[in-house]
Amino acid sequence: MSYDVYKVIIKVFSVIINAITYRKQYFIMITKCTCRNTKLLTSVSLIGLYHKSHLSSLAFVPKCNPATTEDVTRLKEFVDKHRLCVLTGAGISTESGISDYRSAEVGLYARSNRKPILYKEFCNSEVARRRYWARNYIGWPRFSSLKPNITHEILKDLEYVGKVGCIVTQNVDNLHSKAGSKKIIELHGTAFNVICLNCNHKICRHELQKVFQKLNPSMIATAEMIRPDGDVELSQTQVESFNVPACDNCGGILKPDIVFFGDNVSRDKVQSVKDNVESLDALLVLGTTLTTFSAYRIILQAIDARKPIAIVNIGKTRADELVNFRIEGRCGDVLSKIWQLNVSKDFVR
Ligand SMILES: [Zn+2]
Repeated sequence: MSYDVYKVIIKVFSVIINAITYRKQYFIMITKCTCRNTKLLTSVSLIGLYHKSHLSSLAFVPKCNPATTEDVTRLKEFVDKHRLCVLTGAGISTESGISDYRSAEVGLYARSNRKPILYKEFCNSEVARRRYWARNYIGWPRFSSLKPNITHEILKDLEYVGKVGCIVTQNVDNLHSKAGSKKIIELHGTAFNVICLNCNHKICRHELQKVFQKLNPSMIATAEMIRPDGDVELSQTQVESFNVPACDNCGGILKPDIVFFGDNVSRDKVQSVKDNVESLDALLVLGTTLTTFSAYRIILQAIDARKPIAIVNIGKTRADELVNFRIEGRCGDVLSKIWQLNVSKDFVR
């Protein structure tokens, strides 16, 4: 067989695999929104026909069984009954093609010996910063173009109908904003902004990419640099020759506007989360092990405020013993099933 025939066969196989991996979801949403503002109970029925095509890859999602009907019904009752503060973590972005840290087999820690950079390491070491930015530069086009998945979309819809009052996310991927959610607290900042450690001058990460390109014209991403899982591999020479710009305002060190491990979430942000937890009816936790204290503290705040808590996650979390109930399952699967229950219920009527 000629080389061209091989290429055609490989292409056909890749199309089939893509068709299986990427699922198209059609669903109708009918939901009732109970607006509690000004103590008036107003029922609003919203009917929308949604045809959503989500490029939801399951390659980074840990294996798990589908959630049971019992669990889904219970969570639906929880959502129906409360106005929610939602806490999200890496587990909801895995379906968009972003690896989490801690999951067995598919998480970053399981696949490599790579650990996230520490705040002190970034501040104190020029070598560490150069390595960080070189890998970040190569990975940026893929990372910044990833799309929200069904979980982000449903949370946006839940906000629209008044069920979600606030989303607190540990993710820095901007996917809640891309989906259209408005009330978002980015607990650990965002990868889409860059800040000067000296003068606090902020710039857009997309703009910095253009500066990197100008300073590093010979550094062009190749297939060898980007692994299929989106992780970036660079040689020592590539890292050492990478040029990193300083702040154009004061010459200071530029850092992504992300709370690195070893750094603290600002007091204002902690207070803002606390206010939302206290003013809303309940806390729904999606796709996080709650390992970092900044996230676990929100559970403690909700317990202090006597708010009911539900968790949906694959695998154990730090707060399993403290919450009203937890569901073992994939967030996209569980939330889709809640909407489907709404559909069937209202259609029968
Ligand atoms: Zn500066």
